Amino acid sequence: MKRGYVPLRTCRGCGCKRPQKELQRLVYRQGNLVESEKGIGRAVYCCRSMMCWNRLQKNKKILKRAFRLQG
Ligand SMILES: [Zn+2]
Repeated sequence: MKRGYVPLRTCRGCGCKRPQKELQRLVYRQGNLVESEKGIGRAVYCCRSMMCWNRLQKNKKILKRAFRLQG
C-alpha cells in the first residue's frame, strides 16, 4: 500500500467521499441499522452527522440496494 494512501468511502446519506475513519460503518441487523467496526457481510458508510444518519435511515431505496433486501 502506498504511503499516505487513505481509503475513501462514500457516505450514503449525502453522497460525499471521505476517509473511511471519518465515517461510521453500518450493517443491517434484524431490521435495524447498527454501527459495526468490523464484521462480515455488506456494510454502508455514513458521516457522523445526524443529518446524514437521518437521511440514510429514511432512504429505504438506498438501504434495499445496499443490502440486497427483499421486498
Ligand atoms: Zn454524509
